[in-house]
Amino acid sequence: MQKKKLLFVAAHPDDAEFCAGGLLSAWHKAGHSVKILCLTNGDAGHHQTKPAELAIRRAEEARLSAEIVGAALEIWPQADGELTASIDLRKKLIGSIRAFAPDLIITHRVADYHPDHRAAGQLVQDSAYLLQVPAIVPEHAAMQQMPAILLAYDRFQDPRPHRLDWVVDSTDHIDTVLSMLACHQTQVFEWLPQIMGKTVNAEDKATWLRKFYLAKPRAVAKAATQAQKNKTGQQSNDLTDLAFAEAFEVSEYGGRFDPSDFNFVNKKN
Ligand SMILES: [Zn+2]
Repeated sequence: MQKKKLLFVAAHPDDAEFCAGGLLSAWHKAGHSVKILCLTNGDAGHHQTKPAELAIRRAEEARLSAEIVGAALEIWPQADGELTASIDLRKKLIGSIRAFAPDLIITHRVADYHPDHRAAGQLVQDSAYLLQVPAIVPEHAAMQQMPAILLAYDRFQDPRPHRLDWVVDSTDHIDTVLSMLACHQTQVFEWLPQIMGKTVNAEDKATWLRKFYLAKPRAVAKAATQAQKNKTGQQSNDLTDLAFAEAFEVSEYGGRFDPSDFNFVNKKN
């Protein structure tokens, strides 16, 4: 079997799990390859731990999480909250994408809320065409086959809402995603509750994480079901009345995206 390669280009060490954990799990279970590339080290995501120590903790958390879906992991040393779509980082990203040669890249929309998410989306967008230009970053051979690029779901409406072009039924993967997220202790049990004004007791951790995480895949499933009922969705296979889902928008800057190339994702066991 020719393995299909999925690359998630994330701003922070937990973004791939939150945005596409179900897809990562489905990809891995079907025997294909996953890589998570974090463009920052996430060192600003805490109210107590100092950046240098946090970067170390988060790298370990990300490693444990990636291991669950057999994903390769690369974390850049860029400071959290300071990612910019610079020429230097664009060249570094082009090299990294060419070295892995993914069939599919997933990243954030440039309309997402966090400046690092926007910069990550911008960097992927800026790199896309140049992946096939040999004179750019000549130390890595230009790509012959342009990977498809998908943008992870977000709820932001301006300048326009996310399009649910590809819906992934994540219902069978929820437990795997929760296991991955639970690795990111500094985030899901410390920082996120803190900024939400909550404290999570040791015994409540699993319940809190489940409740916090499931809100989004439940909302996406509802939106996807509605879109299909309205016949405005572009989903070709029948995915109605889902419990939990992830959704992705096709970027016009990537290669052609054909969902039938990735049929294994929504295949029921
Ligand atoms: Zn993030």
